Amino acid sequence: MKTSERLLARLREIDLDLPEGTRLVRVYPSPAMRTEGSWTWTALGPGGRDLRIGSQHSMATLLGAEMLLAEPVRSGVVDTDIDVVPARPCRQCATATETACRICRGPFCQTCFTDHHHEGYGTPAEPDW
Ligand SMILES: [Zn+2]
Ligand SMILES: [Zn+2]
Repeated sequence: MKTSERLLARLREIDLDLPEGTRLVRVYPSPAMRTEGSWTWTALGPGGRDLRIGSQHSMATLLGAEMLLAEPVRSGVVDTDIDVVPARPCRQCATATETACRICRGPFCQTCFTDHHHEGYGTPAEPDW
């Protein structure tokens, strides 16, 4: 299977709405268009319809990730894009998460992180350095 087909299968596993006939295509922004966070691939539905799903991470990076997370990104006034990012399972509840504890570097989702403490460090708070 091609990289794009393997990634498409992974995206369907996380319940993204990808109709039959969807293709993942690489995006090659011109140097002038290349900004931080620009997408490296995007999903096109049947007939080449833009599904507004893509990622700033390469297909290979995402395939190598333990889990994937679909993050809604507001790209305009009404449009919302879905940015696919590499994620890890939360240690507590196994939900895909992008965040990790600053002290033990363990992956924790926002909800479980609220209850996650380290002896001697007090409650997880905003860093004061
Ligand atoms: Zn959790
Ligand atoms: Zn920790």
